[in-house]
Amino acid sequence: MTDCIFCKIVQGDIPSQIVYNGANVTAFRDINPAAPVHILIVPNRHIDHIRDPRAFEDDVLKEMFQVANQVAEMEGIAESGYRLLFNYGPDANLVVPHLHLHLLGGRPLGPMIARS
Ligand code: 5GP
Ligand code: ZN
Repeated sequence: MTDCIFCKIVQGDIPSQIVYNGANVTAFRDINPAAPVHILIVPNRHIDHIRDPRAFEDDVLKEMFQVANQVAEMEGIAESGYRLLFNYGPDANLVVPHLHLHLLGGRPLGPMIARS
């Protein structure tokens, strides 16, 4: 997609701190981290979000989760623990419409969501 921020990051047209760059999946640091480790794992080809049928083709989700585990090892948080999540839709604050898995860790993350 021509106008997609994460497609541009994957293609190297927008700078980012890439921590993993594979044939199908790329991982890079979130620009506004919510935790000491906050990395986004994305498919290299454009897929809109987790409800896009393309997310379920070609083992793309499987590979994203495998890369997330591998990056967690590289970041030294495999033992302390981490959270993996997808946002979808306005209630979950999905902002960037290119499928991305958040990897969060490096401190106790507290309850899964605010209860307010
Ligand atoms: P969402 O709310 O869509 O699940 O999360 C999008 C994430 O992308 C946010 O955590 C935001 O900080 C991050 N983000 C937005 N624009 C950029 C960017 O240009 N570079 C990087 N590295 N992260 C970005
Ligand atoms: Zn894209």
